[in-house]
Amino acid sequence: MGNSKNSYLEIDLDKVVENYNYIKGLTNSKVMAVVKANAYGLGIVEIAKVLKKAGADFFGVAFYEEAIKLIKSGIKEKILIFNYIKKEYLNKLININNIIITIYSIEQLNGYIDYMGDNINKLKIHLKVNTGLDRLGIREEDLNIAIKLIKKYNLKIEGIYSHFANASGNEGYTRFQDNNFNKIIKKFEENNILFRVKHISNSAATLLYRKFDYDYVRVGMAIYGLQPLEEYNNNIKEVLTLKSIISGVFNVKKGENIGYGLKTAALKNMKIAIIPIGYSDGYLFQLSSKGLVEINGIECNIVGEVCMDQIIVDVSKIENLKIEDEVIVIGGKIGINRLAKIVDTIPDEILCKLSNSLEKNYIGDV
Ligand SMILES: *Cc1c(COP(=O)(O)O)cnc(C)c1O
Repeated sequence: MGNSKNSYLEIDLDKVVENYNYIKGLTNSKVMAVVKANAYGLGIVEIAKVLKKAGADFFGVAFYEEAIKLIKSGIKEKILIFNYIKKEYLNKLININNIIITIYSIEQLNGYIDYMGDNINKLKIHLKVNTGLDRLGIREEDLNIAIKLIKKYNLKIEGIYSHFANASGNEGYTRFQDNNFNKIIKKFEENNILFRVKHISNSAATLLYRKFDYDYVRVGMAIYGLQPLEEYNNNIKEVLTLKSIISGVFNVKKGENIGYGLKTAALKNMKIAIIPIGYSDGYLFQLSSKGLVEINGIECNIVGEVCMDQIIVDVSKIENLKIEDEVIVIGGKIGINRLAKIVDTIPDEILCKLSNSLEKNYIGDV
């Protein structure tokens, strides 16, 4: 598999660190670097390494395997796993002292207790509570049971957290969630369950507010150059370029069909270029007839459907194009945030979906 290096990712680690430092400069909280989903597609090991160097002492991942990968790559800093871990892996975690698991429901906790018995108190835990996202999180009506179980089994609860539903768009609801968070913390504290570490803010909340800062903010998007807010923030630098080449240049007459489906006829005599990248590389099919690429500094529209491993672009405006000339598929004038807007998705999706088979070239001095 792979793309014979016709196409590859260039990832600027200096910019990753700049973004991380910018976030750090905004808040007095520590910054948990969220590196789930292979660091949003950019490569969890390489990204964690530079963020560690930049001072990150806590990493957030979605799954057990990601945490293990970090540890194997030499990360000794704390790692919080957000999502469910199958019971069969729990015993392995007893001996790994920098992995922290999330307990987010009574059913989950009871299942773990049944499986682990008294060893349950050897796991390091952050509680996740629901404050209004209604995804994973202990619900208010279950708090009393949670308190009972924590005491009965002497659980090692090191922290508590929650997650915002719409920090970028709705301050009222965000404040409502934060109020709930405080009420829940108070309830635990009244029952002598204290937390060393509390955290709730994601990238959007960290950019916008200081009043929701606790011990940590949990930041993914902004580190990777993805804009969390409607309003573009120039301090957040795009870190990714997806480069490819031209594999063919052809002249097409007005009225000729271009690409699959017989849906696109040339509106004029035009010149097209073929680029060997498509949805098998993670380049979204939705970019059909909508996306753009940059060639010689000029923006070129995609014509017709994105194919499995090719796209067709209009290069009528460009002279002297030839096979193997460079194409910037994502980056430059057509950054990931702009592409996301074009197809009405979030930039995270475009980044995460880029295929792992695309070679990653890391640049920067860090
Ligand atoms: C993904 C995630 C984050 C980071 O969110 P961004 O918007 O990318 O900053 C923080 N906390 C949790 C629980 C997450 O799942």
